[in-house]
Amino acid sequence: MNKKELRKICLERRDTMSEEERSEASFHICQILLPLLQKKTVLSYYPFRSEVSLSYLNHFLPVAYPYCKEDNEMDALVPKYGHFKKNRYGIMEPDPEKSILIPKEKIDVVLVPCVGFDESGTRLGHGGGYYDRYLKDCPAFKIGIAFECQKVEELEADEWDIPLDMIITEKSSYESGPRLVHKIKKV
Ligand code: ADP
Ligand code: MG
Repeated sequence: MNKKELRKICLERRDTMSEEERSEASFHICQILLPLLQKKTVLSYYPFRSEVSLSYLNHFLPVAYPYCKEDNEMDALVPKYGHFKKNRYGIMEPDPEKSILIPKEKIDVVLVPCVGFDESGTRLGHGGGYYDRYLKDCPAFKIGIAFECQKVEELEADEWDIPLDMIITEKSSYESGPRLVHKIKKV
């Protein structure tokens, strides 16, 4: 199956979950994440459609959000007054004129929303390649965030796909090879 077909299947599975299931699972994922993120500089995301919501983390941690630029590049911004507006994809993002830019080298942990993933840390996004570009030269610990139903048997990684260090769902945490969770304690 190609990436496009897999995206469709994963999104359908995610949309099939009830609001209640999604919010319970999102809360559980946030509880797993909280102790890992203490004192870290974190790039999170604003939930889009039926994605895992990480909003609960905001009560405890200041986080940066992605801002989509030209050429499918993105920046990490902290909105100064907590204001967001919809971008061309319908995703909420900070206003760059009322935000603080966090340089990539300063980010300790990136929470990467996944459309799909496999246990080896390969990620499927929406197809824009924004995270592949951002994570390419990013030293941060990369944690994929998804519901368990978004797991697929095996994803074929393209040469530009940046592997995740870890994936957290409401059911499990997946780490692969040398990319171990204890690395997060060192960042
Ligand atoms: P996603 O990761 O969002 O699922 P893909 O992996 O299919 O999307 O990548 C989407 C597009 O982004 C591809 O056409 C790919 O060529 C492009 N792309 C990804 N990473 C880079 C990069 N580092 N530089 C240039 N183009 C890239
Ligand atoms: Mg990719």
